[in-house]
Formats: sequence, C-alpha cells, structure tokens
Amino acid sequence: MSQDYDVAIVGGGLVGASLALALASDVSMRVALVEAYPMNSAEGEPAYQPSYDARSTALAWGTRLIYEDLQLWDQLQQHVTPIRRIHVSDKGQFGATRLHSKDYRQEALGYVVENQWIGQCLLAKIADCSNIDLICPDTVNDIYATSTGAKLTLEKFGEMHASVVVLADGGRSGLREKLAIEVSERDYEQTAIIANLSVSRHHDWTAYERFTPSGPMALLPMGEMRQSDARMALVWTLPKEEADKVMQMSDDRFLEKIQQAFGYRLGKFTQTGSRSSYPLVLSLSKEQVRPALVVVGNAAHTLHPVAGQGYNLALRGVMRLASALIDAQREGKSLAGYDVLSRFLPEQDSDKSITVNFSDLLTHLFSTGNPYVSAFLGLGLAGLDLMPVVKGRLSEQAMGLAQARAVL
Ligand SMILES: Cc1cc2nc3c(=O)[nH]c(=O)nc-3n(C[C@H](O)[C@H](O)[C@H](O)COP(=O)(O)OP(=O)(O)OC[C@H]3O[C@@H](n4cnc5c(N)ncnc54)[C@H](O)[C@@H]3O)c2cc1C
Repeated sequence: MSQDYDVAIVGGGLVGASLALALASDVSMRVALVEAYPMNSAEGEPAYQPSYDARSTALAWGTRLIYEDLQLWDQLQQHVTPIRRIHVSDKGQFGATRLHSKDYRQEALGYVVENQWIGQCLLAKIADCSNIDLICPDTVNDIYATSTGAKLTLEKFGEMHASVVVLADGGRSGLREKLAIEVSERDYEQTAIIANLSVSRHHDWTAYERFTPSGPMALLPMGEMRQSDARMALVWTLPKEEADKVMQMSDDRFLEKIQQAFGYRLGKFTQTGSRSSYPLVLSLSKEQVRPALVVVGNAAHTLHPVAGQGYNLALRGVMRLASALIDAQREGKSLAGYDVLSRFLPEQDSDKSITVNFSDLLTHLFSTGNPYVSAFLGLGLAGLDLMPVVKGRLSEQAMGLAQARAVL
C-alpha cells in the first residue's frame, strides 16, 4: 500500500465511506480510508460495526438521487421501505398534517433502510474501487501539519502522508479534541430510545411523527407488503429520567406505554426487539476547515434525530466537498489550501443552518408541555394541512430535494 495519498479519511462510518466513494469517481484521486472497527469477520462475513448497527435511517428522496449518482441505488433499493406518507400529529389535539408523495409526483417522500445494509452496500462498492485503500482495523492516533498537507500516525500502519485529512470519526471525535477544535454544545436533556416493533395493522408505507407532552415519537415503516413482515422503527425522545425508567421496563409494560402515547392508528403493538438509548446533544464544531483538514459528519454536527436529517445533511456535505476537491485536482491546484477546502462551506453552512433550525424548532415547539402552546400547535397542524405552500416547504425539507439538486 502507498504511504502518500491525496485524501486520508479518518472513520469508515456511513459518512466517511460515502465520501471515499464520491472521491473515487475521479480515477486520479488516491484515497485512504482508515476505520478502527473490523468491517469483516474472520469468515469474511460483515462484522458488527457501531456505525452500521441495527438502527434504521430515514433517507430523504434527495439522498436517493445522490446514491443514484454514486451508482449505489440499484443495490441499496433491494432492502428499502418507501415512505409514501408522513403523518404529523400532537397527542390530545385534533390537528394533524399529512404529506403524501403523490402530491409531489414522487414515488416516495423518502426511504427507511437498516444502517447495516447501507454499510454492506458501501463496503461492496469500496472493494471495487482500485483507488481506495481501506486500512482496517486501524486507528489514527495523531495528525501533524506539514508544508504540503498532513502526516498521520496510525497504530499499526505507521505513518502516512496526505494532502488533505478528513475527520469523519463521529460525534465523540477524539482527534477533533486533540487538534483543539472547539465545539458548541447544547444538551437537550433528552434521550432517544430506539427499538423495532411489530404491529397488528400494516403501516401502509406511512411514517408517523407524534408529539407527546414528554417528547416526540417517530415511527418509521419497515418491511414488505405482507402484514407478517410489517414492522415499525421507533425513535422515542424522552426526558432523561423518564427514558431511564422506560429502559428498565419489561417488554409488555414498554409496549403498553407506547400504545398509550401513540394510540391505535397501527392497531396493537404486539412485539418489541431490543431497546437502545442515545443521549441527545446538539453539537456543532466551531471550525470545519483548516489548511489540509476538513471535519464532516457527526464530528461536524450532531443533530436531534426527530426529523431524521443528520445523515442526509452530512451526505450532501461530503458530495459538495468531493466535488470541490475533484475540481481543484483537475485545475492542478494543491488540495491542502484553505481556499480550495473552504469552497464547499458557503452552501454547506446555509444547508446546515436551515436543517439544524428545522430539527431544533420542531423539537422545541412540541416539547414545551404548555397546554396553550399545544392547543395552538394542534390548530397549526390542522391549518397546515390546508396551507399548500407551507406544507410544501415542510415536505421539501423532509425530502431534501432542493438541497440534493443543488449538490448534483
Ligand atoms: C437515534 C438516532 C437516529 C437517527 N436517525 C437518523 C435518520 O433517520 N436519518 C438521518 O439522516 N440521520 C439519522 N441519524 C443521524 C445519523 O445516525 C448520523 O448522522 C450518522 O450515523 C453519522 O455517521 P458518521 O459516519 O459521521 O459517524 P459514526 O457513525 O460515528 O462513524 C465514525 C467512525 O469513525 C471510526 N473512528 C473513530 N475514531 C477513529 C480513529 N481515530 N481512527 C479510525 N477510525 C475511527 C469509528 O469506529 C466509526 O466507525 C440518527 C442518529 C441517532 C442517534
């Protein structure tokens, strides 16, 4: 393997692996992708990898366009569930708004897919790219600036040099801290509980966003046409203490609690898979670019998951970055320069601020616990159903359409 690369990506999670593929579309680009967790077991089967765990991700329609561009969609679509409708409601209020893909002449508003499957598709494609060296399992311990880029020291591989290092090492990025990149953080003082649930009524390809006094609950459709395969992926945001109690409950009590909060639109909740919990913090890196260094994905921004936007936003970011780097390579410019690396920032910053504010606002408004605000929101949702322009803006954001078109 070479020890000199154009781009070295630290972290082979969903975001780092997608960036590697976007860059590799230019055959002159030499890319190193370093991942600390093993990707394959000794038998060659996909190994457990936290970024590709049993969670599901809601992919916006715009993300499908990006995957088509990366020639990944044909494979990925074999195990995706389309979201044809989104139903937004507030518990105890009569208002609800419904977004329907037909109204936007799209096959779907988005898709639900297990992270594990996205990971397998990304890795299979990476294996076909001769200009990506996957260095795994290995850990980047340090990064030092040089006159032409950066030097990285890896636990096993030793030293390598790259014109640019991209930190895609996740929300708890140790390297970001080592490089003294500050982060602004706001603790939501909430925890997201994740579980896959069986229901007695087929979801009919509908995703539900339900706002309850203790926090928002998202239920995403999963599985095939047959009722016996239909499941829902739950993301339930609760205040920390309540979430701790819910995590301790028996399965039966847990299902009852969900039934109470959600009602019977999906019939009865009959079974639950294992639960996991994630403390929620809005965290934004104060710097995203330095000479020879870029920060992307969760290392750059960790959002509230209620609106399902974190990965979609990150993917648009890496597409913008890849396009800026490929252009600079073709122009014969050094990739390490701040001017080259910051080319993707204006569009990304504006996309980020719209997306963060959208997710943040949604969470705050619906978590006030104030009955007057709740009643107003109930009316607002009913009103929203009657206001095509505002509703259109909501679905545009959910579908990530305008943003994806700007990227491609
Ligand atoms: C509950 C929940 C639900 C969500 N649902 C959605 C959704 O529906 N839609 C959506 O768009 N987003 C969603 N998100 C957000 C999405 O999960 C993240 O945006 C995405 O996982 C970020 O991926 P990443 O690659 O940046 O980070 P990670 O997945 O954390 O990957 C980082 C990788 O870097 C590796 N690494 C770390 N340090 C080093 C090192 N020094 N050397 C080598 N490797 C290293 C790690 O092993 C890891 O594999 C959700 C998030 C949560 C918490």
